[in-house]
Amino acid sequence: MTLDQFSLKTTIGAAAQEVIAHADELTALDQAIGDGDHGINMKRGFAEVLAQLDSIAAKPPGEALKAVGMALVMKVGGASGPLYGSLFMAMGKALGDRPASLDVLPDIFSAGVDAVAARGKSTPGEKTMLDVLAPVRDAMRTGGPDLGARLRQAASRGAAATIPMRATKGRAAFLGERSVGHLDPGARSSQILVEALTPFLEGRS
Ligand code: ADP
Ligand code: MG
Repeated sequence: MTLDQFSLKTTIGAAAQEVIAHADELTALDQAIGDGDHGINMKRGFAEVLAQLDSIAAKPPGEALKAVGMALVMKVGGASGPLYGSLFMAMGKALGDRPASLDVLPDIFSAGVDAVAARGKSTPGEKTMLDVLAPVRDAMRTGGPDLGARLRQAASRGAAATIPMRATKGRAAFLGERSVGHLDPGARSSQILVEALTPFLEGRS
């Protein structure tokens, strides 16, 4: 299956709209263990992606992913802007001038996750977006039938797993033990992004 320009546009647009629709929830999560701006940051960044969507979708897939990353770096701000920017830019770089397809998805997503870990100097288990991105990467590599459902399950479990964790990266780390018992906002936004990707995997977009 090849992700053609139409479904790339549909998928990126749907992801942006989902993030924007959940902005208040993301902000509430960040109010509990951060500074309460994650929803605002993500909404600003993905509104820019929507504003640029026609020109982004006119590019070859690798360049389009890089352009999404650039828009996020420029507009999201906070810790999450450079991290999500790195995710998409590294995916675009890893894709290069190949067509986007299910075959290359595990590899390009993996390059994106590695870029987040490198930029954040973080690993899974620190109560961040990586606690969703890393298990989703593993589920992609495993492949097999019902991939969309299994990615949603990996994302949901990864996000839930951040609740009992004590944060050791990002602002929540300043709270120490008091970060325990809260869902990480970045883990939740990553879950939302992964969920928006799965209709494409199921051939629904
Ligand atoms: P800020 O913390 O600067 O206010 P945001 O509120 O937009 O930025 O984003 C916070 C989210 O960013 C956290 O919930 C966490 O998932 C993620 N994050 C923060 N620091 C790191 C890091 N070093 N590695 C991975 N993710 C991180
Ligand atoms: Mg914040």
